[in-house]
Amino acid sequence: MTDTAPAGPRPAISEIDRPALAAWLTARGEPAYRADQVLAGAHRPDASGFADLTDLPATLRNAMAGELRFSTIVDSHVIGADGGLTAKAVHELGDGQRIESVLMRYPGRGRSADRTTICISSQAGCAVNCPFCATGQAGFGRQLTAGEIVDQVLHWHRPPWNALGEAQSGHYNVVFMGMGEPLNNADRVFEAVRLLNDPARLGIGARHITVSTSGVVPGMDRMIEELPQVNLAISLHAATDSLRDDLVPINRKWPVREVVAAGRRFAARTGRRVSLEYVMIDGVNDTDEQATGLVTLAHGWRTHLNLIPLNPTPGSRWSGTPRAAIDRFVRILRDGGVTVTVRDTRGREIDAACGQLHAQLAGRSLREVAIPPAVTPA
Ligand code: SAH
Ligand code: SF4
Repeated sequence: MTDTAPAGPRPAISEIDRPALAAWLTARGEPAYRADQVLAGAHRPDASGFADLTDLPATLRNAMAGELRFSTIVDSHVIGADGGLTAKAVHELGDGQRIESVLMRYPGRGRSADRTTICISSQAGCAVNCPFCATGQAGFGRQLTAGEIVDQVLHWHRPPWNALGEAQSGHYNVVFMGMGEPLNNADRVFEAVRLLNDPARLGIGARHITVSTSGVVPGMDRMIEELPQVNLAISLHAATDSLRDDLVPINRKWPVREVVAAGRRFAARTGRRVSLEYVMIDGVNDTDEQATGLVTLAHGWRTHLNLIPLNPTPGSRWSGTPRAAIDRFVRILRDGGVTVTVRDTRGREIDAACGQLHAQLAGRSLREVAIPPAVTPA
């Protein structure tokens, strides 16, 4: 990225609202309609800096480069896996905090179109402290601003990735499954969703966006009121409070029954299916008792269970459930009438799960790290 700067008073193009941009322009003797031109230009997939907005006068481009930021991301280090289908970035922000985002491409088969999923962070670190999660183990850094959230998507939209293609094509998803608990930063996450939705910016439809939560009940209720078209995923990981208290410690505040009740309210009020995420940990949460508990919890409402084999964090005492035990678990669920899929663990070889690459790079300069293979865009 060419126009970058440390965090500070300079507004970023990803979060400045149109009236503020128009005021900035008119204060410099420019017509207010230029705000639309600037927003359109800055969100073109071929723009990597204000210098690329060549339909604007050079003096204005220079003024913008001096007084605004093209991105809140100062530097990014990208590595790839899965034969180039997955790419993961560690982004450095103005104050040196680091966050992660991941690009996953799913090539279309037959007549089905290619699909792309971009996984983004909502916080630097996370305070929920789930023991199987690298982000949780690293602790909480700070909240991300709306612009810092949006800029992760823009990173993959801009050169050399251009991963969204024409933003309106619609065959992509944005998921809040990177670092952080999005509903512990709800104001900024909701603002970021509105910015992503804005047709004058990326114009990403709410139905292509998923918020994943460890079970922040008030935040889930706010989603019903404020973002009813955004998808909700709940990280359940256990069917009983005694186990979930350990695996997802926020359960001590909002126990399983309250979390599932909030999911049911969301499904009833929005008519949308809620995903239940379930990381499979060998010998921990893959017992018949948990499967039977899940059948009861998932019964009678629009839900879909995603089983994800644990991607063990470095030094972890746990490993993922072996295939045969997953199959047994799935059978109990299906017999109980639960819709269930087993998700692939994309990017395992680049430590794509929640905060792991970040942990590996801690304390090293992004410019100096040599983790092969650096990737080139497809
Ligand atoms: N904090 C939110 C969103 C970010 S985590 C949440 O917990 O839902 C996104 C998903 O990655 C969650 O379902 C989380 O449980 C899962 N995850 C975290 N660490 C993992 C690991 N080591 N292996 C597999 N999945 C993991
Ligand atoms: Fe936070 Fe989600 Fe990791 Fe738990 S799994 S520590 S809620 S990021």
